[in-house]
Amino acid sequence: MVTYVQDFAQGSMEQKDLLGGKGANLAEMTRLGLPVPPGFTITTEACRYYLRNGKVPTDLRVEVTQAVRRLEAAMDRRLGDFHEPLLVSVRSGAKFSMPGMMETVLNIGLNDASVQGLAELAGDERFAWDSYRRLVQMFGKTVLGIDGDVFAAELDAAKRAAGVASDSELGADAMRALTTRFKEIVKEQTGRDFPQHPREQLDLAIVAVLESWNTERAMLYRRRERIPHDIGTAVNICTMVFGNLGENSGTGVAFTRDPATGRPGDYGDYLPNAQGEDVVAGIRNTLPLSALEEINADAYAELRSVMRRLENHYRDLCDIEFTIEQGTLWMLQTRVGKRTAPAAFRIAAELEREHVITLDEALLRVSGEQLSQLMFPQFDPRAVDTVLLTRAMSASPGAAVGHCVFDSETATEWAARGEKVILVRRETNPDDLAGMIAAEGILTARGGKTSHAAVVARGMGRTCVVGADALDVDPVAREFRVRVRAQEGREASEYVVAEGDLIAIDGGTGDVYLGDVPVIPSPVTTYLTDGLDAALAAAGEGDAGDDTRALVHAVDLLLHHADETRRLGVEANADTGDDARRARSLGAEGIGLTRTEHMFLGERRVLVERVILAGDDDARDAALAELLPLQRADFVELLEAMDGLPVTIRLIDPPLHEFLPDLTDLSVRVALAQERGESGPEVDRDHELLAAVRRMHEANPMLGLRGVRLGLVVPGLFALQIRAICEAQADLLAAGKDPRAQIMVPLVASVMELHLVRDVAEQIMAEVGAERGIELALEVGAMLELPRAALTADRIAEASDFFSFGTNDLTQTTWGFSRDDVEGAFFSQYAANGVLTVSPFESIDTRGVGRLVRIAVEEARAAKPSLTFGVCGEHGGDPELIRFFDAVGLDYVSCSPFRVPVARLEAGRAAIEAAGSGKASDSR
Ligand code: PEP
Ligand code: MG
Repeated sequence: MVTYVQDFAQGSMEQKDLLGGKGANLAEMTRLGLPVPPGFTITTEACRYYLRNGKVPTDLRVEVTQAVRRLEAAMDRRLGDFHEPLLVSVRSGAKFSMPGMMETVLNIGLNDASVQGLAELAGDERFAWDSYRRLVQMFGKTVLGIDGDVFAAELDAAKRAAGVASDSELGADAMRALTTRFKEIVKEQTGRDFPQHPREQLDLAIVAVLESWNTERAMLYRRRERIPHDIGTAVNICTMVFGNLGENSGTGVAFTRDPATGRPGDYGDYLPNAQGEDVVAGIRNTLPLSALEEINADAYAELRSVMRRLENHYRDLCDIEFTIEQGTLWMLQTRVGKRTAPAAFRIAAELEREHVITLDEALLRVSGEQLSQLMFPQFDPRAVDTVLLTRAMSASPGAAVGHCVFDSETATEWAARGEKVILVRRETNPDDLAGMIAAEGILTARGGKTSHAAVVARGMGRTCVVGADALDVDPVAREFRVRVRAQEGREASEYVVAEGDLIAIDGGTGDVYLGDVPVIPSPVTTYLTDGLDAALAAAGEGDAGDDTRALVHAVDLLLHHADETRRLGVEANADTGDDARRARSLGAEGIGLTRTEHMFLGERRVLVERVILAGDDDARDAALAELLPLQRADFVELLEAMDGLPVTIRLIDPPLHEFLPDLTDLSVRVALAQERGESGPEVDRDHELLAAVRRMHEANPMLGLRGVRLGLVVPGLFALQIRAICEAQADLLAAGKDPRAQIMVPLVASVMELHLVRDVAEQIMAEVGAERGIELALEVGAMLELPRAALTADRIAEASDFFSFGTNDLTQTTWGFSRDDVEGAFFSQYAANGVLTVSPFESIDTRGVGRLVRIAVEEARAAKPSLTFGVCGEHGGDPELIRFFDAVGLDYVSCSPFRVPVARLEAGRAAIEAAGSGKASDSR
């Protein structure tokens, strides 16, 4: 039989699917014997029934009745009683935290009779009427759908009439009158009385919480956070305890370690004589948790002991909500707490050192995404005098400071005169592109991680924060307004930020600051490039310096462990000696992709033009002969930088017309010359060029004459590159080095294409070998970047020594999405209507593109077990996907140099997860 209700005392933390996160943790704390107010949870199963059928299951009524009776018996109080009434809260709680997205109703059980009982129980008439009016207000808004402003206006009027500024100054009589007025509002707005029966209140509140699963904002949040829509929420019904019953009461939040830095030691805020909502709303300034020791030493000691027990039990940082009711401590919530990236590393390493978790577990507690956040230059944490305006969604990392501008034209204008600007928009669209390019960073009030702003900014490597819905952006007035909650030493207030004002955005955390915030290099990057000692030496003085040293030690410990554990190799995509050296210093074990096309631009472009336009073999050979030493020098530089490690050089890939002038520009030039009657060698050359450009013009160049097709059609081009590779290899061998060049052929679709290139390569290897008196046997392999290549990889394997998946082109050709156009053009709409949750160019489509990868690996490896497999598309560095590539059985991933440490870390995590040797954290 399906159970729809479970008492806190029956459940455990393993039951998050059924009880939601909050319910499972309340159950766990109850099981541990901690002081949790008794209660019960309506399961997510009931919510799923409600979502399917539009009504609650019939059995639920009976189960709730029984649970309420058990609660009443345990508390020896009754809901709605005239004396000592039982009151309950009704709170949502899904498996994954969705802070503030769903509803809560407090003080259920108060009515015209029990309000008297509460006054008696608390010995405080005002408190009882205040609680009752809060119930009518919250119930009216949340359950009955009345506009909250109607109640707020009435409250303001009452304060005006009494000549007071804050709610707390309104006395018992005023609160009673307000309650009566609120009940009238309910009657006026809904045509019915405020329900007096506590059970009716409870049933309606439960339905309101279930309904709140599907509000617009909750659905939007789930889409952004990739939380499934069909798991539903649990509903927790918990005995009310009050933190606002005088100075001996209060409420707070606590962390078992500092969630910002990871520093050990208790940490939190306390607010005497207040309810939880007052802390969250940030209306009053809180005290540091340690202040509780002075106020109530016993409660403080008990809280600390509970915190120790929770951390030992959960073996992780816990965050806690608690209330003290007339001196008695009650735990209202706990969970494994969210933390910043530095805190994640430090806490994992220190818990391992304290022997609370294993090294494998510690590695699973951090992620590549967090490591990549630690590698960007960052705002100086010592910059204390900054106002945090809001915290929104991090879309593209980095730390950017600039003057606010509100449209694309202003951004480009100001940037052109040398100003640094941050482009602030409600949301961006393709018209904003110029401004986005000109800006240091982009900030939008709307949109998620695949909004236009996010996708384009990531593509450009621009710092970007999106979905800052606290900002009221007015592009006409050229300003935004934002209400900022009270912060340390600062009152809550509204800020108006106008065009030209300086702001700073942190693309790693989503933080938006007012004013100039100093930027410092990342100590983790110093560690990665220059080593542990250098990073420790560069850390400053004081607490911040200690934090930095602890962080660097943690990264060192966990990255070393990842290297020892991982099965996947990590190589880099690098085209120059500088890139190769950087990649190597960051731990790359070779180059998985060198794109050679940039080597034909700049001053060498004319030589390429001559190859293309050559009237006969001699002319072409002459141009190729000029290119040869240049190419050889390119390869020598790369091979030297990666001495002893593989360097996979890809033969030229893009359509040839990319090396020729633009068709329109050239046509105009030729037409003008004609009109003016000009002549001479330059004009003749332009004519020739125009004819060639026209000949080569393609409607779909990405699907045209590029890659191996180009190599087979334009004589001499591939041969030139192969000879340059072989000669570079031979030169370095002669110099006593250990070069390991490999030749990679792009865009192969048929085994015959590869056979033809291999024949040329073998012939050149033999020629160069004979010239130099050595034996050259370079590996020749193919990129798999077309569906046909993946599906016939077992045949292509005949002619290949290795394969590398080019997942950029493979995604483009599998989906039929132009990789240059679609992301900026319509992906934001595709994200909004749910077709895509994330761009397949950013995160590999494991179902489609991933299936092709699987098929190719399985079939080709069966045909030729000696083959090695890598991936060199942009997906190679995606932390989440490394697990996928590991599981599919690739030998290595290749990514941009900066992503190398991230890939090393993730490859270690993937190996631990595959072996099942670490207890996986509860992540999606
Ligand atoms: C690819 O297609 O994934 C790839 C690595 O090649 P390029 O991005 O240069 O086309
Ligand atoms: Mg490609």
